[in-house]
Parts: sequence; C-alpha cells; structure tokens
Amino acid sequence: MQKINKELLIIGAGPAGLGAAIYAYRAGINFSITDKYVAGGQIITTDEIDNYPGFYDNISGFDLMQNVVSHVKKFGVEIIEFCEISDIKINKSTKRIFICSSENYQFRVKSIIFATGASPKRLGVEGEDGLIGKGISFCATCDGALYKDKEVVVIGGGNAAIEEALFLTKFASKVYLIHRREELRASKAIQEKGFASSKMNFILNTEIIKFNGKDRVEEIILKDKKTGDIKNLKVDGVFEYVGINPNSRLLSGLVDFDEYGAILTDKNLQTSVAGIFAAGDVRNTPLKQVITATADGAIAATSAEKYLANL
Ligand SMILES: Cc1cc2nc3c(=O)[nH]c(=O)nc-3n(C[C@H](O)[C@H](O)[C@H](O)COP(=O)(O)OP(=O)(O)OC[C@H]3O[C@@H](n4cnc5c(N)ncnc54)[C@H](O)[C@@H]3O)c2cc1C
Repeated sequence: MQKINKELLIIGAGPAGLGAAIYAYRAGINFSITDKYVAGGQIITTDEIDNYPGFYDNISGFDLMQNVVSHVKKFGVEIIEFCEISDIKINKSTKRIFICSSENYQFRVKSIIFATGASPKRLGVEGEDGLIGKGISFCATCDGALYKDKEVVVIGGGNAAIEEALFLTKFASKVYLIHRREELRASKAIQEKGFASSKMNFILNTEIIKFNGKDRVEEIILKDKKTGDIKNLKVDGVFEYVGINPNSRLLSGLVDFDEYGAILTDKNLQTSVAGIFAAGDVRNTPLKQVITATADGAIAATSAEKYLANL
C-alpha cells in the first residue's frame, strides 16, 4: 500500500476532474488525481462531440479528452489511472483530514474534489448492450442533430424525457415517446407542450422488450401492457431517459444529497462538509455537459485553493 500525503485529492479524471486539475496546478496546490479506469470520462466512447466551444468540425470524445489529458500532463501532473477510490473517512480527531483509499493507495488529504460523474440507467432489455452508441443514446442535446428528418424514439415519462423529445422535434421528422405507464410523470406544463407538438406521438402503457439491428438499431419490439399485444416499430434512433444514477455512493452518510442521489453544493461547489467539493455530473447540476463539467472543475479547484489558504 503506497501512502501519499497531499493538500487535495481529485477523484475522477473526466471533464470535471481534469478541469479541476488544470486550475489546481495553476493555483500551486499539491494534489493527486485518480481515475478508476483510463482518464477522459464517459465521453471518450462518443464518436462526435457537440456543444463544446471551438470544436464544431467533427471531433470525437476520445480526441477531445486526449487534448485535455495532454494539457494536464504537460504540467507534469501524474494521473493515477485504474485507481478506484473505494473508501473515504474523515479523521475524527482533526475533522480536517480525509483518508481516501483504493486497493493500492492511501491518500491523506486536506480537501477533496469529488468528480465521479453519473451513469445513465439502462432498460436492461435484450439487444440493448450491443447497440449503445449505435443508435441508442442517452443524450439528445449531444446526438439529436444527427437525426435530421429521421424517426426517433424517446423512452421515459419524466420531465427530462419530454423536454429532450421536444428538443429532438427540431431535427427529427417524427418523435415517438414511449412510456410504460398510463400517466406521464412530467409536470403538467411540460406535458402540455409535448401534446401540442405535431411531431410528437405518444405510446403509453407500453414497454420495450427488445432492440433489433445489425450495425445500428433498426427496430424495437414493444408490448402493450393492457392487451399483451406485441408489435414492432422501425426507428432510426433511440434516446433512453429512464433515470440517471450519480456516482455518489462513496459519500453516503458524509455529505447531503438531493432525492436523486446527486450531491448538493453551494455556489462555490462546496458540499455540506467543509473541504469536500463536488463537480460535474455527480452534483445536482442543471445541465450535464462537458462544458459545464469542466467549468465546475475550475470553480471547485478555485474554491479548494481558498479553503486550503484559510486552514
Ligand atoms: C453517450 C453520451 C454522449 C454525450 N455527448 C456529449 C456531447 O456531445 N457534448 C457534451 O457536452 N456532453 C456530452 N455528454 C455528456 C458528458 O459526457 C458529461 O456531461 C461529462 O462527461 C460529465 O463529466 P464528469 O467529469 O462530471 O463525469 P464523467 O465524464 O462521468 O467522469 C467521471 C470519471 O470519474 C471516474 N470515477 C468514477 N468513480 C470513481 C472512483 N470511485 N474512483 C476513481 N474514479 C472514479 C470515472 O471512471 C470517470 O472517468 C454525453 C454523454 C453520454 C453518455
């Protein structure tokens, strides 16, 4: 077990963690950054990045994040990869020291930036795994523009599902919204906007039982929950909005969460515990994108700098 003493540990080397690393370096903070896999975050498997300023001409998630990783490494920062932090404890006597452990490392630090991201919930039905990124997406803001004049399906019945379906009507010729219940969960105002759109088609009381497609998703098999009827629907793209799980479990019992398990922060991105900051998709952010995650990292590192200076 390697023991490391630092001022700050950044947990997660996605856009938020790497953004934090750049600002932490600039602030002269003595820090470490770890990721449980390779650096780059959830975006590295995406073929095309949208909405990141300055990159409007087909850059893949992998290439964009390689640039960011190079930026961090250029400063001589070592990103400790394949290092999953599995335990965080507050030193009981001082309350100012955090002990963060992985299989091979123990970090003794004065502050933490928690940037572990979030994972979209999946339906878990047949054919889904192999078609993720091949027509099945979890981000209309990111991939919606690829479906100009095509027919797409949105799965879910909450605010996010309907808002994103409405966003997709800007591009797609037809948007089916499929929900497993009779009633949508979204607020009445958002539902009304959805019902008012001539491009939206609601299929309620229906569950998806299978995705079909060779290289891309081609059709979905649906089951009417009332009648038991099975039918197929040809589609060009599928967007799943059946919930999101912030990767926040490690801080359970330590900091405050909202009802969805996202970490609550103040405007400086400090959590309910002094010295623990949260950045990116893991916190209760109103927009989950690369630009907001990297900006969160910058704010969290700047706040950590002030916190450390005042200790
Ligand atoms: C398919 C898809 C397409 C998208 N397309 C776009 C797009 O085009 N444009 C856009 O702006 N946004 C897009 N997004 C959203 C964007 O990817 C996220 O908003 C962004 O990656 C959030 O960054 P983050 O650093 O908060 O989290 P993440 O990117 O999830 O990074 C978190 C990192 O923390 C690591 N980690 C987790 N737990 C631990 C632990 N215990 N110990 C150590 N490390 C840990 C993970 O391995 C991961 O690398 C897309 C998302 C998806 C899923």
